[in-house]
Amino acid sequence: MVEPTERDGMTWYECEECGLLLEDQEEARRHERNCDAEEPSYLQ
Ligand SMILES: [Zn+2]
Repeated sequence: MVEPTERDGMTWYECEECGLLLEDQEEARRHERNCDAEEPSYLQ
């Protein structure tokens, strides 16, 4: 899931798989679909 998060007065979209922040929601979703982080550390 891409999670909207506010930082420095801007809304960013965070890839929950790897924690990457992207400015654009579409781009974040596209990233997430191709994200190869299979095991987020916080789930272990
Ligand atoms: Zn990612």
